[in-house]
Amino acid sequence: MAATETLTSQEAIALEDKYGAHNYHPLPVVLSRGEGVYVWDVEGKKYYDFLSAYSAVNQGHCHPRIVNAMIEQAKTLTLTSRAFYNDTLGAYEKYATSYFGFDKLLPMNTGAEAVETAIKLSRKWAYEKKGVPEHEAQIIVCSNNFHGRTTTIISFSNDEDARKNFGPYTPGFIKIAYDDIEALENVLTSHKNVAGFLVEPIQGEAGVYTPADDYMKRAQELCNKHNVLFIADEIQTGIARTGALLAVCGNCSCEEHCERQEKTYAQPDVLILGKALSGGAYPVSAVLANDAVMDVIKPGQHGSTFGGNPVAGAVATEALEVVKDEHLIQNARRLGTIFREKINDFIATSNIATLVRGRGLLNAVVINDTEDSSTAWDICMALRDNGLLAKPTHGNIIRFAPPLVMTEEQLLDCVAIIIKTLKEFEK
Ligand SMILES: *Cc1c(COP(=O)(O)O)cnc(C)c1O
Repeated sequence: MAATETLTSQEAIALEDKYGAHNYHPLPVVLSRGEGVYVWDVEGKKYYDFLSAYSAVNQGHCHPRIVNAMIEQAKTLTLTSRAFYNDTLGAYEKYATSYFGFDKLLPMNTGAEAVETAIKLSRKWAYEKKGVPEHEAQIIVCSNNFHGRTTTIISFSNDEDARKNFGPYTPGFIKIAYDDIEALENVLTSHKNVAGFLVEPIQGEAGVYTPADDYMKRAQELCNKHNVLFIADEIQTGIARTGALLAVCGNCSCEEHCERQEKTYAQPDVLILGKALSGGAYPVSAVLANDAVMDVIKPGQHGSTFGGNPVAGAVATEALEVVKDEHLIQNARRLGTIFREKINDFIATSNIATLVRGRGLLNAVVINDTEDSSTAWDICMALRDNGLLAKPTHGNIIRFAPPLVMTEEQLLDCVAIIIKTLKEFEK
């Protein structure tokens, strides 16, 4: 008998509390099963998942095709390390590079590792291709960024919880305001040694801050002009989440013409993917770039024991195929528009919520209370009681990001739950 079979929620929480490091503050719900847009707790209560593991589960929980690809590969060959070739990696790299429109892919496992890879890649490119003097390369980042948890990445965070007492910090980063083209232009004009501009097309963790429609395109143009790599962290926004294949809208594979595409099309020099690259089944991340950039990395200069392992390749290939076959880009765009319309109609009559923002099915509702209030948390507890799981990001903002396999009927059901719950908190 499995050790967890007889546990109640309270017992499972007590175990984590006693034996696990306290590096998270989870909503008190203990999940034991997932399928599509639903998860179930250990007592058997069913919920809509409106976090999707921070947009890792875009394809829905335990997608049968992805799970099957994982099982079949796991039964055949799981890990060779890159000391040898395996018969899965090359085919996956061919598929993924053509899918996203790049020459090459460098496989890693977690998002933070892929961001680290992009940082190392752009620094090396700056020294070897751009002629920046050694140790002088700078990377421009945005305030309120979230790019992961390694020592270097938290060095350029401005979240005190993420940073404090983890120094000394890695130098070489210049922070500018997000969605501020002039700030970017000023730094690019006044600094000679810039390797890259690392940016999230929408700042998910910060509260789904959605920049001007043309921010990415103009940023890319400025980077090109100044011979600086435009590095898009699409770990949360990519792979159909925002109603485009990528939130920068490069290589948008929409079936119908994408009206945003003309004005907003941007193609990153370096693309960082993670999370939904595996549909949440397995840790798979990747950095994509063209040869002129990627070729600066030579044998022995970067790597990972598990990066590019056969299971990862099989899972990621299937996860990307599912996105296409099930038209998740189109579904996310269509349902996102309905979601924001319905919530906006409610906000017009309400004083508990002030704003809904986002693209596709990456949205946030701003709660009408101070940043340090517990109202957003209390609303998430009430949403849980009403059968829907969401989590506050940064105080009074609630992110709503369900799996993209949701139907319109399910979405309308969820909108009703959200509005009913918000009404309980009306002032
Ligand atoms: C989640 C996330 C990361 C870090 O990914 P991990 O797999 O948690 O290391 C980096 N950037 C963005 C934008 C993310 O959302």
